[in-house]
Amino acid sequence: MEIVHGLDELSRRVLEPGLCAACGACVGGCPYLMAFRGKTVMLDRCAVEHGRCFAYCPMTAFDPEEVSSHVFGLPHQSGGLGFTGTIVASRSKDLEIASLGQGGGTVTALMVKSLEDGFIDSAVLTGVNPKESYPHGVVALTVRDILACAGSKYVGAHSLSALREAIDRGFQRIGVVGLPCQIRSIRKMAMYDLKKEDLKKRIRLVLGLFCNWAFSSRDFISFLSERLNVNFIKKIHIPPPPANSLELETEIGFRRISLDDLRPMIQASCWNCPDMTSEFADISVGMYEGKPGWNTLITRTEIGQDLVRRAEEEGRLEIEIFPQANLEHLKAASLNKMKRASERQN
Ligand SMILES: Cc1cc2nc3c(=O)[nH]c(=O)nc-3n(C[C@H](O)[C@H](O)[C@H](O)COP(=O)(O)OP(=O)(O)OC[C@H]3O[C@@H](n4cnc5c(N)ncnc54)[C@H](O)[C@@H]3O)c2cc1C
Ligand code: SF4
Ligand code: SF4
Repeated sequence: MEIVHGLDELSRRVLEPGLCAACGACVGGCPYLMAFRGKTVMLDRCAVEHGRCFAYCPMTAFDPEEVSSHVFGLPHQSGGLGFTGTIVASRSKDLEIASLGQGGGTVTALMVKSLEDGFIDSAVLTGVNPKESYPHGVVALTVRDILACAGSKYVGAHSLSALREAIDRGFQRIGVVGLPCQIRSIRKMAMYDLKKEDLKKRIRLVLGLFCNWAFSSRDFISFLSERLNVNFIKKIHIPPPPANSLELETEIGFRRISLDDLRPMIQASCWNCPDMTSEFADISVGMYEGKPGWNTLITRTEIGQDLVRRAEEEGRLEIEIFPQANLEHLKAASLNKMKRASERQN
């Protein structure tokens, strides 16, 4: 895979054409790059020729075969969902977690369990500071920190800058929750490990979300700010088609916005992105279309399989069969996303 470039090339290929997914992998560790009001900004030029910024960016070269062999020890499965172990429906049995979660709180339940068991010593998540409207990466060290990050923020949030923070602070058993683009970046980090930081070992648990697109946080937040006090938002829901709307649960009631008004704010990178289900994660979690309060849960590695089994045995997760018709629908949606990306790139 091509990794031998620096910031100039990252700027030319990703930042200037507007293809940055705001994953956050390149900010935090570099004095020349920063996240500013939702955008990745280059402050100056840099002479490093083999930069981590270029090597770890999910929007530069990505070879599914190489990454699949690194993560699964197997060739890449191109049938739509990638390499899968079990695919089930799930939700948290803890009622507080279930009510805070976007779907069934599966992700939060698994991160809480991993931290309580000592399987991880830190969790890299995405939260919102009440004094600031832009979601951002968080290094969560307590159950309370993890609960505070529950719920989807439908924007690119530069969350992986918090992974850099966790590495620099010396955490040795890091768990990360991310979007498919972020999972790709994390796997590239562990594979190349340009600064020899023992990343393959230290990034212990990689939990990926499903994702079809995300808004540019700058555009989305300024759109919302013109219409309401964004600090009043408790949760954002995007019901499945044919709803074509985004619903805001706020402290003063529900608001519905047509997706037609919001689509222009989708990040350009998302139209080039082929991965719907975080194909290279240990565990992937998405919504369960048609069953509110539940998730779709895919285990992909032994680490993922083992964590889910223990969470179920301990009564933290409720697991049900995922119907074949839903599985076919999920595969079709994933293949559509791949097709969309390949048409865009040709
Ligand atoms: C931008 C985006 C697009 C999505 N698109 C789809 C989709 O098309 N289809 C689908 O089935 N599911 C989609 N999801 C996933 C879905 O919204 C839920 O996150 C998922 O079902 C897990 O639910 P849960 O109840 O287990 O999550 P929770 O227990 O609520 O945990 C959510 C976790 O997501 C993390 N998170 C929140 N926002 C972000 C973010 N912006 N970037 C990175 N991490 C974040 C938090 O740290 C938290 O740990 C999307 C999520 C996001 C953020
Ligand atoms: S996609 Fe991530 S790594 Fe690439 S330029 Fe944007 S923030 Fe940096
Ligand atoms: S569609 Fe792809 S690039 Fe866009 S936020 Fe989702 S995973 Fe990242």
